[in-house]
Amino acid sequence: MNQDPENENPAIEPELIHEETALTRPSMPVTIDELAVIPDDKGIQVIQARYKMIDTLRRASISLTSPQDWLLFKTPEGAVTAYLQDSGCKRIWQIWGIEISPKEGWEKITDDETGDYACKCYGTGVSKVTGLFVENIEGVRYSNENYCKDLPRLQQEVRVKQAAIANRDGNIIRALTGLKSVALEMLEEVWKGTGKSSALCNLGKGYGSRTERKGAEVHDQAPRDVPAPICDICGKSMKYIAASDRYKAFWSCPEKKKGPDGKYNNHGSVEADKWEATMKLAAEDKAAAKGAA
Ligand SMILES: [Zn+2]
Repeated sequence: MNQDPENENPAIEPELIHEETALTRPSMPVTIDELAVIPDDKGIQVIQARYKMIDTLRRASISLTSPQDWLLFKTPEGAVTAYLQDSGCKRIWQIWGIEISPKEGWEKITDDETGDYACKCYGTGVSKVTGLFVENIEGVRYSNENYCKDLPRLQQEVRVKQAAIANRDGNIIRALTGLKSVALEMLEEVWKGTGKSSALCNLGKGYGSRTERKGAEVHDQAPRDVPAPICDICGKSMKYIAASDRYKAFWSCPEKKKGPDGKYNNHGSVEADKWEATMKLAAEDKAAAKGAA
């Protein structure tokens, strides 16, 4: 864990999150069988004490993080879980006594068609506090990601490797701390009264596309002969959002945004072709009225 802050990863898009190929083994005791034979229910007390300790460590970790360190995911049923990004992992590894041993060497995988490549590295980690141990944990990043895709080739490869190392260390820390998937309620409970709010967490899968989440910031290719619609709520001119592979072109109030609950506020938006049709009809009406006069 010696990454400098300059190498901080950008927010992780969901597709960059990999399942660890981890072998997890508690190197301290203790199987249920071993615990069950301890007299006077002492085994149960051991489990309860451990649970309490891990719960305390998790809460202490959460209080050390910022909302921006977390990425929220929402299932179609509406359950929200939070994923601690690499930036947050760097704030908490000390209290778990985590030690990471990198494995020598790199795997580089190149796409012959595009020249894009991935850099992969592996490592092993242990928490001196809990005794948990994980090995063969992968870190991977890609040369076509936004933070590095426009860099000169040499700097780019260095950057991708730094990011892959941060990703590997993050994967190890998440595996050892159980902070890969935390209930949103737990973040809110820990942050209560601190001024930190889950409303400032990054939004990932389940919250719509990046463009939809950021509100109406994209406004190229607006049709020239169509006036921008006006938002009924705030009176601002709507912005034109070019079509993507996920949605048709539309107009949207710059204030229209998705909240952490995944719902849009009620500022105006209208599909571009519907608005164009409305304007066309209005123009025809106007022409007809003129002709009749
Ligand atoms: Zn508005």
